[in-house]
Amino acid sequence: PSEEYELSRRRIFSNTRELWYYVNSELQSLVKEGDGVKVEHISKIKDIVGEHYRSLLKDVTSLADVDGHAIWRQQESENLSNLVQKRLKHLQNPSDCAKARKLVCDLNKGCGYGCQLHHVVYCFIVAYATERTLILRSKGWRYSKGGWQDVFLPLSDTCLLPNGETTNRWPGHRNTQVITLPIIDSINPRPPFLPLALPEDLAPRLNVLHGDPVVWWIGQFLKYMLRPQPATSNKLDEYAKKVKFQKPIVGVHIRRTDKVGTEAAFHKLDEYMVHVEQYYKFKELTDKVDKKRVYLATDEPKLFSEAKRKYPEYEIVGDEDISKTASISKRYSDQSLSGIITDIHFLSLSDYLVCTFSSQVCRVAYEIMNSLHPDASTLYTSLDDIYYYGGQKRRLHVAVLPHKANGPHEMNLLVGDEIAVAGNHWDGYSKGTNLRTKESGLYPTFKVSPKIETAPFASYPDVTL
Ligand code: GDP
Repeated sequence: PSEEYELSRRRIFSNTRELWYYVNSELQSLVKEGDGVKVEHISKIKDIVGEHYRSLLKDVTSLADVDGHAIWRQQESENLSNLVQKRLKHLQNPSDCAKARKLVCDLNKGCGYGCQLHHVVYCFIVAYATERTLILRSKGWRYSKGGWQDVFLPLSDTCLLPNGETTNRWPGHRNTQVITLPIIDSINPRPPFLPLALPEDLAPRLNVLHGDPVVWWIGQFLKYMLRPQPATSNKLDEYAKKVKFQKPIVGVHIRRTDKVGTEAAFHKLDEYMVHVEQYYKFKELTDKVDKKRVYLATDEPKLFSEAKRKYPEYEIVGDEDISKTASISKRYSDQSLSGIITDIHFLSLSDYLVCTFSSQVCRVAYEIMNSLHPDASTLYTSLDDIYYYGGQKRRLHVAVLPHKANGPHEMNLLVGDEIAVAGNHWDGYSKGTNLRTKESGLYPTFKVSPKIETAPFASYPDVTL
């Protein structure tokens, strides 16, 4: 398919959703204010519009597959992934480690597992862009004292030591052999290739392939990093058998405890389950669903019994004991590590994700999910943030329709305006800052399209498929 075809198809898909978000939330507020008779009528409209919505979504989804497009997409994503994996392998296994140019990072950023994985991805992106072998120092890791190799394969077969002739802090010089990198929050100067930037040489193909190419890109680094040790693999296989992990299944991640009230708002179980229901109603338009399953991952153990009690028609898959190892007081241990690896693995293997993207746990699961499908950019609902990468420069929208502000909360748009996006309110509107007028406010999401940003990265001309 052409780029034009793919972009139009994806635009129809996302605007079908935006229309639904708008109508649904407006009708919902009418229900809240309305009197008895009207409420009944409005609820009926809501149900029927919901049916229209799912039917439209199903039809436009099929446009991604017909005329050989599914086969093409599968092949193209494999080719691109093989190319990137081969480049990473080449980068990480220099022929002479004593002479190799290196980038050194510490795994032990003072935060949780998801946040630490994102820290390593950031280091790996800088390593890839500057063509330096990434050396990950991980001894004394807060999750497992032996370090990364307790659970995952080392990032290199030939080169794990950080020494060299000359060492300097970032940015150093091209011919400094070893450069040490601070965390993304304090990197200075900021190079242009940090997320959400895509490498110039791959961006045109990724933009045709994928609905949110940067998620695919991040997913490729995780794919390389998270190659499991045999013992880790075995544990995951055994666990799948124990909990009878089967499809269809929706991954639900509910982040509570230390996150709530500090970095995210509290959301009830029901708010997640509305979207799980919606997923299964949609699925039932094309497939027979024998059993509705949920893979539940959470740091709040009580949610397992709540889910089983309130949703008896569902099979709740997962392990309450794992969530008991997730609380802040027990978090940094081998047992908790094995729990979070398991939860992220099975969330990423689910058919659909419902979670809060304010949590790095769910963002990592979503990124890995996107390394397992040609394009999984539509297979989630986040109750709060849109997808972002911690420390990212910005996400851009570009206006494709003009907009006149409807009141003081909204902003004006001219076609071609670029907007730095703050978030989607999931009611038909997004919030952001117009880079031309410097105005901040709400705008209808259907009036914009996503814009991808690119930067020069090392291009590995000698590594080909
Ligand atoms: P964030 O704080 O949610 O953005 O994500 P982080 O990964 O940085 O830190 C949260 C940590 O809490 C995780 O790394 C886990 O150690 C623990 N945790 C949170 N949610 C879960 C969960 O659903 N399952 C398990 N096993 N652990 C969790």
